[in-house]
Amino acid sequence: MTRLPEHRPAVPDETVLRSYRQVTNSREIMTRSLTTYEDAVAFHGHSCPGLALGYRAADYAMKRLNAKRSEDEDLVAIVENDACGVDAVQALAGCSVGKGNLIMRDIGKHAYTFINRKTGTAIRLVQRPEPLTERLDPEVAALRRKVTSGKATPAEIKKFHERQAGVIEKILTIPFGELFIEKEARSEIPERARISGSVQCAVCGEMVAEHRARVKNGKIVCIPCAGEYSRGW
Ligand SMILES: [Zn+2]
Ligand SMILES: [Zn+2]
Repeated sequence: MTRLPEHRPAVPDETVLRSYRQVTNSREIMTRSLTTYEDAVAFHGHSCPGLALGYRAADYAMKRLNAKRSEDEDLVAIVENDACGVDAVQALAGCSVGKGNLIMRDIGKHAYTFINRKTGTAIRLVQRPEPLTERLDPEVAALRRKVTSGKATPAEIKKFHERQAGVIEKILTIPFGELFIEKEARSEIPERARISGSVQCAVCGEMVAEHRARVKNGKIVCIPCAGEYSRGW
């Protein structure tokens, strides 16, 4: 076993196991809504302008498409970046990597498409092209440059965080149209996530999902054993 720093083993006792079973069987918990910005912050780990923007996009889309937080795959999100805002989409809209109703098409754009499968409606929200922070508070943008360059004094760092909080508050309260442009979404609805079978890799012996398996020298292998470019993961 690779021991990671600060690893704390958790052996669930009977009380914990009972609560796991309750959670698994509770419809109420499954459909419970994470509705507030605080919920998104709890999921993401910190409050930041990117998260606030993702929160506004998800909130707007759900109202516009008349959709509730997705228990299964009724609401689908296609995100075009891998930044902080994506976590707000997962927390608020319930579109998540594990459920397969979050499609990451990371082409580096602050754009989010939401699709309501039940009604067959969709919208694409694109962040306005003007630099947002500069517009909301020119001083915070200058402070950020100083802080990220490592040349800021402790007083400037403190000031940056205070001004940043003000920017986040503005993002959460100004009219939606000042943040995003609503565009037509492509009309095709992505197919539902498939449950895939597994095959055993002929080299390492580990099981791998069929749709991720490769063939090397006529044998079924996993991606790392096929020696494919994968950045080591
Ligand atoms: Zn963040
Ligand atoms: Zn393998």
